[in-house]
Amino acid sequence: MNKSTYARFEGSGNKLELMQDELPELKEGEILVKNTFTTLCRSDLYTYQGIRKEKTPTILGHEITGYIVAFGPDCPKFDNRGEKLKPGDRITWAIYASDPEDPNSRKGFPQKAKNIFKYGHEQITGESNFHGGLSQFTIIRKHTPIVILKKIVSDQVAALINCSVATMAATVRLAGDLRDKHVLICGAGMLGIIGSAMASTSSAKTVSSLDIDNNRLKISKLFGSKYTGNNVNEFKRKFDIIIETSGVPEVMTDTLQQLEIGGVAVWVGAVFPQNDLKINAEFIVRNLITIKGLHNYNDFDLISAVDFIEKNIDVFDFRKLITADFDLQNVNQAFDFAVNQKPYRVGVFIP
Ligand SMILES: [Zn+2]
Repeated sequence: MNKSTYARFEGSGNKLELMQDELPELKEGEILVKNTFTTLCRSDLYTYQGIRKEKTPTILGHEITGYIVAFGPDCPKFDNRGEKLKPGDRITWAIYASDPEDPNSRKGFPQKAKNIFKYGHEQITGESNFHGGLSQFTIIRKHTPIVILKKIVSDQVAALINCSVATMAATVRLAGDLRDKHVLICGAGMLGIIGSAMASTSSAKTVSSLDIDNNRLKISKLFGSKYTGNNVNEFKRKFDIIIETSGVPEVMTDTLQQLEIGGVAVWVGAVFPQNDLKINAEFIVRNLITIKGLHNYNDFDLISAVDFIEKNIDVFDFRKLITADFDLQNVNQAFDFAVNQKPYRVGVFIP
């Protein structure tokens, strides 16, 4: 039986330790994937720093790509775009496996199903291992949305798809038709950058990016933003759509004031504890404003994310968003670099 080397995380303050364990026999519906590249997401860094708590020991890393090595019994035969799955296929997969019969899954929110399994977030136990990207192999569970990738997408760019790109695909879906709309993207971090790229390729009339960091705003211009500013009042226009990725309370309330009649705000950044916001109900009512919240994404959004990357691989230099690559042996340096330098993404090659 094969073995897999992986970086075991025991909790904040501990160095990640490279370990090797036997790969178990595949169970019903499982697929064995050889990981090739993993990028470190902000939530991985928060767990590493102790800002966010996960059950440990664990294998971090959920922005993963790899190729299929083996199928367990009664495996899915096709990916979520309807293509036949076979060994050697390079794939991306959702960050979750969830029961399709769960009431929330049936409502279109599989990411909110009970007993959801999330790659890169699960505890290593006697029965459950190899569920994170910082490992040579991942065992993909039953009911995980999977999409086969075209060759034009590099491993590095592929790793970005199943977290930020799919989340932004869901955000844009909630925002509605962007054609001829003035779109404001709040925050020019990873989500905001993908947001401006998606808005600009969805025939938005204008795409504007708001951030306090001018370097990030410069990058946003390479990804579809036409106008940039440090304060919403600098734009001297109102917006039809606001995509809020910063999670900063004042940004959420101040930008609402800049919505046109019938405007839509989709909030996706507030994924950490927040104070209550002060919003004027009369303003919302008289201006026909809609506010929507989004967390994670569903299987259709994963497909949209792959379609978007494949279609725009030559339009935007997504590779530029991964500032540094490390080998799995140097995984601790990768985390320290990511925490200290705060680039969009740091990548880890998996041998
Ligand atoms: Zn993530």
